[in-house]
Amino acid sequence: MATHSLFLLPGDGIGTEIMVEVEKLIAWTNAEQLTDFSTDTGLAGGSAYDKHQVAITDEDTEKAKAADAVLFGAVGGPKWDDVPYEHRPEAALLRLRKEMAVFANLRPAICYPALADASSLKRELVEGLDILIVRELTGGVYFGEPKTITDLGDGQKRAIDTQVYETYEIDRIARVAFDLARTRNNKVHSADKKNVMKSGVLWDEVVKGVGKDYSDVELHHILADNAAMQLVRNPKQFDVMVTDNLFGDILSDVAAMLTGSLGMLPSASLGAPDPVTGKRKAFYEPVHGSAPDIAGQGIANPIAMIASVAMALRYSFGMIELATKIENAISAVLSDGLRTGDIAQDNRKTVGTEEMGAAILAKLKA
Ligand code: NAD
Repeated sequence: MATHSLFLLPGDGIGTEIMVEVEKLIAWTNAEQLTDFSTDTGLAGGSAYDKHQVAITDEDTEKAKAADAVLFGAVGGPKWDDVPYEHRPEAALLRLRKEMAVFANLRPAICYPALADASSLKRELVEGLDILIVRELTGGVYFGEPKTITDLGDGQKRAIDTQVYETYEIDRIARVAFDLARTRNNKVHSADKKNVMKSGVLWDEVVKGVGKDYSDVELHHILADNAAMQLVRNPKQFDVMVTDNLFGDILSDVAAMLTGSLGMLPSASLGAPDPVTGKRKAFYEPVHGSAPDIAGQGIANPIAMIASVAMALRYSFGMIELATKIENAISAVLSDGLRTGDIAQDNRKTVGTEEMGAAILAKLKA
């Protein structure tokens, strides 16, 4: 079995608590010879600042870039509110995303049957939901220049953000979406605003061009505003949705909330395949933050972090069977009625981080 390297960055707050459950999971899969992971652990965010006065050191950044996959907990907290802006905890995330050049952000929205009633939508609309939003992460209006606020002198100001996309940026994210669709239900919706934006016209043109290389995958165009509406009207019509940085930011949050709690949501960010090894740089993290309000109490939900490991197995290591087993274990534990505080329901047993992690592991062992 090939040895794969994992670089763990637990971060701050509940990040460190949920990562402990991941370490136990990896120790078990290694012991069972289901995996052969070598792991190393670094500091990111406030914990790195406390020790090194930076959000992440050069050394840990290099380790992240060299690893087969990075597992990231969460960073931030009120303790670091007043540190210099360039060293704020979130700077670690931005540096890693930039230096690892992870341009494809994958946000699955899966509704576990046992939690269907936690959604703000009716059970029949969300039960069995399994969609994947693929968001372009390193281009578009968040990064485009010029990006300015100009004083016009008469009490007026002018703010400018620039939406810029080049062919290669759209081409590569479209290929990620089509490749992923092939591992799922062979359907891609591409969302843009080509009716009012030139970047949308190019987006659509390039996606359709890429689509010709994937004649086995159904491609649909959808305007981004309609996509938002359809996500809350009939989300199960979608399989993979690919979209730009801005629309993806919004649509992935909409999709995420269909499933209930922040504590349940994993994510992946992938870079381009290495020309020699074919491997993509990859970064896996829960969607939630460091939850300072509950940090240190042992009550955080570890499911988003554990589901992020399942994503790593699936997307970085091709271990689909083991990934599915972990996802099924999560589902089974929820069906048994186990809940952490964030997804607590009447008549269900509320457990802490450790107990939830142990229950998932016990299902896997069974
Ligand atoms: P948050 O996601 O940390 O918490 C929002 C709410 O959800 C809180 O009430 C929290 O208790 C709850 N929650 C989140 N994850 C949970 C889990 N796994 N189990 C149980 N409950 C959970 O967002 P926030 O409060 O806006 O931010 C807190 C800190 O985290 C800030 O410093 C913020 O900058 C940072 N943050 C970091 C990341 C990241 O590292 N990727 C993402 C978002 C926010």
